[in-house]
Amino acid sequence: MTTDVTIIGAGLGGLTLARVLHIRGIPATVYEAEASPTARAQGGMLDIHDYNGQLALDAAGLMDEFRGLILEGRQAMRILDPDGTVLLDQPDDGTGGRPEVQRGELRRILLDSLPAGTVRWDHKVSGTRALGEGRHEVTFADGTTVTTSLLVGADGAWSRVRPLLSAATPEYTGMAAVETYLLDSDTRHPATAKAVGGGSMFALTPGKAILAHRERGDTLHTYVMLTEPQDWFAGIDFTDAAATTARIAQEFDGWAPELTALITDSATPPVLRTLHALPIGHRWDRVPGVTLLGDAAHLSIPNGEGANLAMYDAAELGKALATHPDDVEAALSEYERAMFPRGAEAATEGTRLHEWLYGDDTPHGLISAFNEDHGQETSHA
Ligand SMILES: Cc1cc2nc3c(=O)[nH]c(=O)nc-3n(C[C@H](O)[C@H](O)[C@H](O)COP(=O)(O)OP(=O)(O)OC[C@H]3O[C@@H](n4cnc5c(N)ncnc54)[C@H](O)[C@@H]3O)c2cc1C
Repeated sequence: MTTDVTIIGAGLGGLTLARVLHIRGIPATVYEAEASPTARAQGGMLDIHDYNGQLALDAAGLMDEFRGLILEGRQAMRILDPDGTVLLDQPDDGTGGRPEVQRGELRRILLDSLPAGTVRWDHKVSGTRALGEGRHEVTFADGTTVTTSLLVGADGAWSRVRPLLSAATPEYTGMAAVETYLLDSDTRHPATAKAVGGGSMFALTPGKAILAHRERGDTLHTYVMLTEPQDWFAGIDFTDAAATTARIAQEFDGWAPELTALITDSATPPVLRTLHALPIGHRWDRVPGVTLLGDAAHLSIPNGEGANLAMYDAAELGKALATHPDDVEAALSEYERAMFPRGAEAATEGTRLHEWLYGDDTPHGLISAFNEDHGQETSHA
């Protein structure tokens, strides 16, 4: 392929695509809005699945590097009642297919695997324009432009490439996450560290939850999940950490102190992440010379698949382009034909998971689903 592939966005999807192309001899340039690889903390752990994310890393030739990042024991899972009663305690027996890694470390191995200069940092796309015959012009915030005959939008939820293909925009899901961290939890917050356990912990009631993860070392990373309209969150001044913490903690009045400490004792100011989704089954008619991957294509309610799918999309697209070096349209058609149903299926699953987690039957729906998955009988409490 003689054309340079132009990728917008150096998230896990965009970087995986650049890497999969690179090892197949196809040059790519990635334009990223952030000023540098360290401009923003890439917090959070990701479980990388053996049926999608790991396949992508294999296609990227990075399985050894990936294995070096795995945090042992983090596939353990606990489900707690708000009063701290343990309803399910599943240890990590080393047989799970979803090892956990730190997102920032995964991004780092992808960045390190690319030729110097592949990623152009501080290039925020402000607009895109079709030039005809499959060519597109990309305009950056500083007014400069590039033209390309193959443009890939890997620029996430608020993609600037998506309007070339579809008029869809993400809608608020009705739920947001507030992120907090406890550091040195084994020594400074032992009761909470014990409640969270070695992996992930879900404390749930209908419509709200405290979800926590043991990250590298004994850092505890929490998503406080709340079902409220966006106006409700807008009424909280998130620049005032103490007042925000008090307001969020108020929603968990009466919960066990070892759980509410995940909010009240945070070492970092609470950060709001409102959750949006594209319509399930979002798709478009083929437009020559441009496509999307990952969240830009199928942003969904969080379902534990988004990063995995972004990488998998990227690997599939990269392989399709390598298989059809002289026929970009054949490659894009083949990629999109499989990607549309894959994205829709994951989003549908996400809706089901959402119901298990936050619906009226929580936590029993989740426990039943978990036990069915593990071939165990369930009795509702
Ligand atoms: C709270 C929360 C928890 C999650 N937990 C999980 C999980 O446990 N497991 C999982 O698999 N997924 C999870 N996800 C989903 C996952 O984060 C996304 O699906 C995944 O990051 C999508 O990857 P991407 O490469 O498509 O987009 P992104 O990761 O969003 O990357 C897009 C990149 O494009 C850049 N960009 C954006 N706009 C522009 C522009 N105009 N110009 C240039 N560059 C631009 C961004 O700076 C970014 O670097 C979670 C999401 C949220 C919100």
